[in-house]
Amino acid sequence: MTADTLEALADVEAATVEIHDVHKWYGTHRVLNGIDLTVRPGEVTVILGPSGSGKSTLLRVINHLEKPEIGYVSINGELIGVKRQGDRRETGVPPAEGWGRLKELSERAILTQRARIGFVFQNFNLFPHLTVLDNVAAAPVATGKLGKPEALELARELLDRVGLADKTGAYPRQLSGGQQQRVAIARALALRPGVILFDEPTSALDPELVGEVLAVIKDLATSGTTLVIVTHEIGFAREIADRVVFIDGGKIVEQGPPSEVLDKPRHERTRDFLSKVL
Ligand code: ADP
Ligand code: MG
Repeated sequence: MTADTLEALADVEAATVEIHDVHKWYGTHRVLNGIDLTVRPGEVTVILGPSGSGKSTLLRVINHLEKPEIGYVSINGELIGVKRQGDRRETGVPPAEGWGRLKELSERAILTQRARIGFVFQNFNLFPHLTVLDNVAAAPVATGKLGKPEALELARELLDRVGLADKTGAYPRQLSGGQQQRVAIARALALRPGVILFDEPTSALDPELVGEVLAVIKDLATSGTTLVIVTHEIGFAREIADRVVFIDGGKIVEQGPPSEVLDKPRHERTRDFLSKVL
């Protein structure tokens, strides 16, 4: 690893993510119903909730893959998403034309922000036609962050970190699900993100492959990266989360350290959910 690449790696600054009063509708279906959440630098936040409660939508709003009708998300104090003037949310109907002016971010600003956020999906989403090494090196080159040789060097380093140094020349289809997900994590790390979002990263895996992926996420958690993880792995949440957030019906029902939310839940809905997944 050259001094330059090492310097580029050291450049990562753990991000603060602030989610302020986010409301999201699909048509007339209200999916997020006033989410307020702050994730501090280096903190690991685990999001729990029943299917359909809005967990994926929340991650997609943070990454600007979805736009909230009300509310905003900021990364390190910089807005991502929209901030609506005025306050009409009590009516409970979707915002219509003329409700107020939206502060739209330019496409360029969105791309800049998104490059600071890593996203790891349930189904890996690797590029099937690229080798493992090129999957990891692609984004830093495409975004102009690194030249090709430096990006390849960084990719080798990251693949070594996730235990796949011997798979650089393989194609995704030649790997197990657990290995593919570890490549996806290395790929997310290649942009040196300030925060990484995980959407059920082990849900698509055979049970015997879950552990190797959780071990890599745990390594990130202990190295000070800001992480937001949607998972049903309660034992894992207890082990690594600084904070557990339980969402139901697009609202945060309760949040706190695992010792409170998981071991002494205050709300019936949380107890009910935990009794089903534990
Ligand atoms: P979760 O990840 O907690 O299972 P989601 O955020 O995926 O929940 O979905 C929340 C709700 O929004 C669900 O009722 C889902 O059917 C609905 N939904 C999600 N995405 C869309 C979409 N693109 N269009 C319409 N409805 C959607
Ligand atoms: Mg989901």
